[in-house]
Amino acid sequence: MTQGKDPALVEIERKVTAGIPLSIEDGLSLYRTPNLHELGRLARDQKERKSGKKVFYVLNRYINSTNICYANCRFCSFAVDEFKEKDRVVRMPADEVFAKALETGTNFNQIHIVGGHDPRQLSLDYWLPLMRRFKEALPHAQLSLFTAAEIDYMAKRHRMSYSEIIAQLKGAGLDNVNGGAAEIFAEETRKKICPNKVEGESWLAIHEELHRQGIASNATMLYGHIESLEDRLDHLVRLRQSQERSPGYNAFVPLAFHPDGNELNDCGWTSGVDDIRTFAVARLMLHNFDHIKAYWMIQGLKVCQVALQFGADDMDGTHGSTDEEMIYHSAGTSSGQHVDDREFRRLIEESGYVPVRRNSTYQEFAWDWAPPAAEGAYELVRA
Ligand code: SF4
Repeated sequence: MTQGKDPALVEIERKVTAGIPLSIEDGLSLYRTPNLHELGRLARDQKERKSGKKVFYVLNRYINSTNICYANCRFCSFAVDEFKEKDRVVRMPADEVFAKALETGTNFNQIHIVGGHDPRQLSLDYWLPLMRRFKEALPHAQLSLFTAAEIDYMAKRHRMSYSEIIAQLKGAGLDNVNGGAAEIFAEETRKKICPNKVEGESWLAIHEELHRQGIASNATMLYGHIESLEDRLDHLVRLRQSQERSPGYNAFVPLAFHPDGNELNDCGWTSGVDDIRTFAVARLMLHNFDHIKAYWMIQGLKVCQVALQFGADDMDGTHGSTDEEMIYHSAGTSSGQHVDDREFRRLIEESGYVPVRRNSTYQEFAWDWAPPAAEGAYELVRA
C-alpha cells in the first residue's frame, strides 16, 4: 500500500481537532487515502481524546433465545422457518434462558440477548416476567436486550406506540438496547437487503425514544455487502444527527458482512484493510459518540486488536455461558464462542492500552470485582 502525503488529511485533521463534523466528502477522502498509517494516527488521536489510554471489555452472558424468524433478510444465515427446518429450530422457554445465564456463575455485568421475530416468543407476556426475574436474582447485571427490529415487532403486535412499549420494557428493568438491525439506512439499499425489517427512520425513532426515557443504546452498521461507500457514510451521518437530536448512544459497532449460507454469498468476505479503515472512518465521522467497538466475534480477535490502533476503544464481552452464538457462526465466522477476560487484558495491554472492565452503560469495575450474595441466584433457578 502506497504511503504518501495526502493533503486531504491535513484539512480533515484541522476539522477533527476543532470539533467540526466531517462531511460525506471528507469520509470518502478517508476511505480512499493511500496513507493508511496517517489515517490510523488521526483515528488513534481522536480515540485518545475521547477515552485516553482506556480500552473497555465486559464480562457478559450472551444468549440467542430463538432463531425462528420470518423477516427473510437476504444477508441472514441465522433465521429458520419452524415448519420447514425443524432440526435447526432453537426456541428457549423462559426458564431455559434464565438457567442458561447462570450456568457458569453469576460474576458478570451484562446479560445480552437477541433473537428472531418469533411469534411465540417476542411478546410482553414472555419478556416482562423474565426481565423482572433477572433483575431480582441478578441486580448487578444490566439487561442489554433486543434490537430496534424486535421492539418494532412487539409494538405492532401489541398495538402500542414506541413510547408505550418502551415504557413497559423500562418498567421491567431494561437498561440498554443492542445496536443491531440498523444494517444500512439508505433506503434503496435497505429495500434490497432487508425489505421486511423495521425501516431505517423507524430504527432511529425507536432509539431516540429509548434515550428520551433514559435507556441507553448502541448502534451498528452492516458493511461489506452491496452497499456503496456513500451508503456507509450516509449511515454514519444519520447516526450522528440522531445523537444530536436525542443523546444516548454509547458505542458504534461496525459489523462486517459474513457470506456463508445466505443469499448475498457472492459478495464474499470483507478484507482486513477494509475492516480497519471502517473503524478509523467511524471514529473520525462520529465525533459525538464516545466509543467505537471492535467486536471480536465479528472481525476476529487479531483484527480487533489492530483496530485498537485505528480508533476502537472497546472489544465487547466474554460471552461466557455454555450457550452458542448463532448469528455469526451460522454465517461462517471462525471466531470461537468465548474469550476469557484475562485474554482481553493481555491483548489490550500488548497494544499499549489499559484494560477497563465495564457494564453496558460504561460504569467501570475493578477487574476482580465480584457480585455480593450471589448464592441466592441459584435458589431462584431452582424455584
Ligand atoms: S437478520 Fe434478524 S430480522 Fe432479519 S431474518 Fe435474520 S433474524 Fe430475522
